[in-house]
Amino acid sequence: MDSPALRAWLHEFARRVAENSDHLTALDSEIGDADHGSNMDRGMAAAAAAIDSDPGAEPGQLLKLVGRTLVSTVGGAAGPLYGTLFLRMAAAAGDAGPLDAAGFAKALHAGLDGVMVRGRAEVGDKTMVDALAPAVDALEGELAAGAALDVALAAATTAAAAGRDATADRVARKGRASYLGERSIGHQDPGSASATLLVEAAAATLGT
Ligand code: ADP
Ligand code: MG
Ligand code: MG
Repeated sequence: MDSPALRAWLHEFARRVAENSDHLTALDSEIGDADHGSNMDRGMAAAAAAIDSDPGAEPGQLLKLVGRTLVSTVGGAAGPLYGTLFLRMAAAAGDAGPLDAAGFAKALHAGLDGVMVRGRAEVGDKTMVDALAPAVDALEGELAAGAALDVALAAATTAAAAGRDATADRVARKGRASYLGERSIGHQDPGSASATLLVEAAAATLGT
């Protein structure tokens, strides 16, 4: 996928974050400090503006710009973690120009690895990783089995949403929600909800 395709994805993620900002904040009000929607909306609005102001950016540069903007505009846990996701994607994309489907999946996998290292989070810790990891697994698995990108991204979306929903049954082991211990059970993790929006936005824009 070329720069225009990645721009469409990033803008669609920003749009979905804005649309769901109140919902993300409501989830965070249950087990956190009620700012996940506003954090992500501020960050992605700034990221969208940053990429608009650099119309010539190649895929790697585009992803780097988004990562840097998120790190610098979003406080708290999610800004640096999403920033790391995009910076690692940028590093994986390099300056080679457009990514093919496998290259995109590999970059997303590198981004997930970066989040897990930076956050010291494993699958099941009730974080954004619980949506991202199954999405990456599904995307890579479908592509390896010969599926077209749209089919693979649809499977990734289903997997992300299932991972998000399953966070409600988990005890939070990372981030603010972990202070609640067992009392975090019964509440969906806000970061897993925003991460699902990221995958949904990819399926809506990149699946051709
Ligand atoms: P803060 O908790 O600093 O207010 P946000 O509310 O914006 O930041 O983001 C909270 C989300 O960040 C959580 O729902 C969770 O998904 C994610 N998160 C927090 N800590 C970690 C971590 N160590 N590793 C992975 N994700 C994390
Ligand atoms: Mg918060
Ligand atoms: Mg906060």
